[in-house]
Amino acid sequence: LTPVKITNDLIEEIKLKLDIVDVISEWVSLKKTGANYKGCCPFHNEKTPSFVVSPDKQIFHCFGCNTGGDLISFVEKIENLNFPETVTKLAEKAGVEIKRVNYDPKTIEKISKQKEFLDINTKTRDFFINNLKKNLKSLNYLSSRKIDEKIINDFYIGYAREEWESLSDYFKKENISLSKASELGLVKEKNGRYYDTFRKRIIFPILDHRSNTVAFGARVLENKKDVPKYINSKDSFIYTKGDVLYGLHKTANKIREKEYAIVVEGYTDLLSLYQVGIKNVVATLGTAFTEKQTLLLKRYTNKVVLFYDSDSSGIKASKRSLELLLKKGFDVRGLFLEEGMDPDEAVKLIGKNELIEKIEKSCSLVYKVIVDSFSDIKNPSDLASSIDYVVSVLSNIPNELEQKQWLNEVCIRSGFSIQDLSKVLKKYKNKEVKNTGNNKSINFLDKINDLDKKLIKIVLFKNELCFKVFDQEWEKFLPNYIRDLFFEIKQELQKTNKLSLSDLLLKCKKNDLNWLENIISEALMGKDTYEGLDIEKEFQGCILKYKIKLLEKQKNSNLSKIKNNIATDKTLREHQAVVEEINKTKKLLSVFE
Ligand SMILES: [Zn+2]
Repeated sequence: LTPVKITNDLIEEIKLKLDIVDVISEWVSLKKTGANYKGCCPFHNEKTPSFVVSPDKQIFHCFGCNTGGDLISFVEKIENLNFPETVTKLAEKAGVEIKRVNYDPKTIEKISKQKEFLDINTKTRDFFINNLKKNLKSLNYLSSRKIDEKIINDFYIGYAREEWESLSDYFKKENISLSKASELGLVKEKNGRYYDTFRKRIIFPILDHRSNTVAFGARVLENKKDVPKYINSKDSFIYTKGDVLYGLHKTANKIREKEYAIVVEGYTDLLSLYQVGIKNVVATLGTAFTEKQTLLLKRYTNKVVLFYDSDSSGIKASKRSLELLLKKGFDVRGLFLEEGMDPDEAVKLIGKNELIEKIEKSCSLVYKVIVDSFSDIKNPSDLASSIDYVVSVLSNIPNELEQKQWLNEVCIRSGFSIQDLSKVLKKYKNKEVKNTGNNKSINFLDKINDLDKKLIKIVLFKNELCFKVFDQEWEKFLPNYIRDLFFEIKQELQKTNKLSLSDLLLKCKKNDLNWLENIISEALMGKDTYEGLDIEKEFQGCILKYKIKLLEKQKNSNLSKIKNNIATDKTLREHQAVVEEINKTKKLLSVFE
């Protein structure tokens, strides 16, 4: 658990000892075609292969979903690990020695405490698993719910015995600190003695996406009055409720493959779907979606189907999650079956195939919110508060076109004009700007346009053009991230005379520019080559287009000053000059096209 010191040398050594084709072959069946290997992409669902691996360049790229990168990115993505974890794993695989970072004592203490707590949880988990094997009653219960051995193993399901001190005795025998176990909520202290928290219950360990056992959930064997059906671990040093999506350690790849996630509330809901083969599921464990959970899920998909109990509390819970999910750019669907039906009953009553059909046809939750809000209007104040609520929900949608379409729907149902509604919307948008700081990394990829891609590709094809950007002071026309990238390339070239692809990819990873890898791999594997083309001309064409973009921006800002009567003589002169410069640049551009 101690962090690895990641150096360029370490990465180089790993890449020297491991071949990308060998490693990817463990996951994808690859066939040789020409210089490259081809297969069906593991990151999206496809039948015709568009996933290419280049042994020469040691990179991969999928032309279906545009995912790409090197060996490390592949393992990072497919195993759901972070960068340091991936490097550690691959270093071990390659037999390369890794150096650990020297941290201050406080951090080391924190890390070792974390490790110790996780160890206690893992041992506890195994203890419960052993109990289950010997307990016929609980095995019968699970099989009555069609939870077979494979699922029991996959989700580490166990059993807590009826005795008051069975786990506590085990801890004593194993020399495990009871006070730490009590910090984890596994035992409770009373008059100097420790008693088990979970008794006579089926245990559902809660694993995070890296397969660490961070907490436990427990369900009674028989429903009894006055006994809570479910109890869960309290928050601890290693567990915060709302940080984990239950099941993700097992379902992440299925979610990526199906291109959407079904979201249920509890672990038994998830297992009900899982046991009939509906496996692209996660459970939020009884809370509305948290920011952490949305970001976690966003790694695998942009689309969710919320499948909560179809009673009023389930509907409320899904509406509570809606705004946050919309804000993060999710397409949010909701599945609401007949009154009160939960996922387990749905599987039994409707059957797998029909249920899948219902899930895939589930309607937009935004639509449901709109319909529900205007279905029972009795007086003007109802109408006003409905409009307020619906528009506040819509204000979270980042895509303006989509937002507009929903506003139209509200127009039709409320009888208000789009202008009136836009005014309400503006109110919420202003609030939004004040509330959120800058979350520039989110949806950044959506903003990269073809021009950006083309320019990056050209410079990757002919690296020396980087120098020209800075010599001619053209960098002022470029978006920040391209300027930074080119600056890195320039420095690298000055130092070593040769651009190392591996170093460049590493820089992307270290600077949280993972999305850039996709563009780099696309550029290097793509069919569009600049061989035979006048590349300098293409390059200058791009630069001129950026220049025009910037000038247009200046023009518009001056125009708005002129319109609002706040333009000075200087502004007017500047406006004139900008317009002339635009025309001049456009003329020049026509020579390059
Ligand atoms: Zn793909």
